[in-house]
Amino acid sequence: MRIAAVVVLSPFISRGFTRHVFYISTRRGLACDNCSQIFGIQVLKGRHFIYVFHVFKLSFTLKIFPQTCQRRKNSLILCCKSIVKTMIKNIFSAGLPVDEQLLIQKNSIRGNHEGKRLCVVTGTHGDELEGQYVCYLLTEFLQRNTDKISGIVDIYPALNPLGIDSITRGFPGFDLDMNRIFPGSENKSLSDSAAFSIIEDIKGADFAIDIHASNIFLRELPQARINVNTAENLVSYAEMLNIDLVWIHPAATVLESTLAHSLNSLGVKTIVVEMGVGMRITTSYGERLFHGILNLMKNIGMFSGDVNCEITKPMIVEGDGVEFVNAEKSGVFLPDKNYGEKLHKGDVIGRIVSPLTGDTLSIAKASESGLLMTIRAYPIVYEGSLLARIIKN
Ligand SMILES: [Zn+2]
Repeated sequence: MRIAAVVVLSPFISRGFTRHVFYISTRRGLACDNCSQIFGIQVLKGRHFIYVFHVFKLSFTLKIFPQTCQRRKNSLILCCKSIVKTMIKNIFSAGLPVDEQLLIQKNSIRGNHEGKRLCVVTGTHGDELEGQYVCYLLTEFLQRNTDKISGIVDIYPALNPLGIDSITRGFPGFDLDMNRIFPGSENKSLSDSAAFSIIEDIKGADFAIDIHASNIFLRELPQARINVNTAENLVSYAEMLNIDLVWIHPAATVLESTLAHSLNSLGVKTIVVEMGVGMRITTSYGERLFHGILNLMKNIGMFSGDVNCEITKPMIVEGDGVEFVNAEKSGVFLPDKNYGEKLHKGDVIGRIVSPLTGDTLSIAKASESGLLMTIRAYPIVYEGSLLARIIKN
C-alpha cells in the first residue's frame, strides 16, 4: 500500500496545531496542509520516532505510539503523545553589498509544558567565542529533553555574526562596539536596526543570560557582572549559575547602551557572564555554565530533570573589593601565576621583559592578598595595561 498522507493528531501540540496533516508528495517529500510547506521525512522504525525535517529549518520530532497508529486506505494516522518542536528563526536579516545576507538567528526550543521564557545570548563581540560552546551544549541537551522543560528556551549564538565571521570584536565596517548601541532604533543604520530587532525579539522574556569571554588580552574566572542598580533583582539568580564570583559594579553611564541594561530596563532579568579568554574556548568553563543554566532553570521551574553537577557557590564581590595590577613598563609580559590561584601580598604575578636588551624591566607583585580572578593572556603590554585583578581577602 502506498501511503499518501500522514495525519498527526495531538492534543499537546502548542500554538493551535491540534491537527497537522502531511501529504506525501513522491517527488518533494511531505507537504503540510496547514502551512503548505514542504517537509522531508525519515522514519526510524525501531524507536517509534518520526523525524520530520523542514526545508526552512522548522523541525519537528514526533513521538509516535505505534499501537495508536491506524492505516486507513492510503493514509497513515499517527496519534502522538507529544510533539517536540524546535524552530530556527531569523530575527533580523539584511542584504549585504555583494548579495550576501546578514542573518541573526535563534533556536527556539519549546518544552512540553507551559512555563517561563529564558533567552541565552552570545556573540555580541565577534572575538568572544566561549558562549558558542555553551549554546551548543544547551541546544544539544534541551532538544533531547523537552519532556523535562516547561516554557521556552531561546538560544541566540551569534548576535554579531559578521564579527564572528571576520574575527572582529565590533560590527565590521561600522567600527563600533555592538554592546554600546542598544536599544538601537528601527530603520536607521544596519547596526541600529539589528540591535532594535534583537531587543524586540527578547522583550517579554523572563530571564536572559548574556555570555561574554573577556577579550583576547585577559583570562577571567567564570563570573557574573551586575550593575549595583540591578543587584537586588539579580544576585540570587546569578548565584545559581555555577560560577566563581559575582562582581557587583558601581553604576556607570557607559553601561546604559549595553544589551543587559536595555533588557533589565524592560523587565527581562538579564545577567552578564564573563569567562575564559577571547578567540578560544575553555571547555571546562563552558560545561560549568551549561550546568549552571540548567540549575537556574530548575530553580525557576523550567527544568524537572537532574543537573548532575555540584554547583559552585560564587563569592560576591563589590566594587572596591577588587584590586587592579597594571603594567609599570612597556614590554613582554611573562606570567608566573594562573587565574584562580590564591596570592599573598608581595607574591610575584609575572615579569615584564625586553626581548631586545634581555633586561627584566618590571616585576608585577600582588599589592594585596587574595584570589587571582584575571590574568593577562596577551603578552605585549604598554605602561598602564591591565595585568591582573585580585579579589581582596
Ligand atoms: Zn564581550
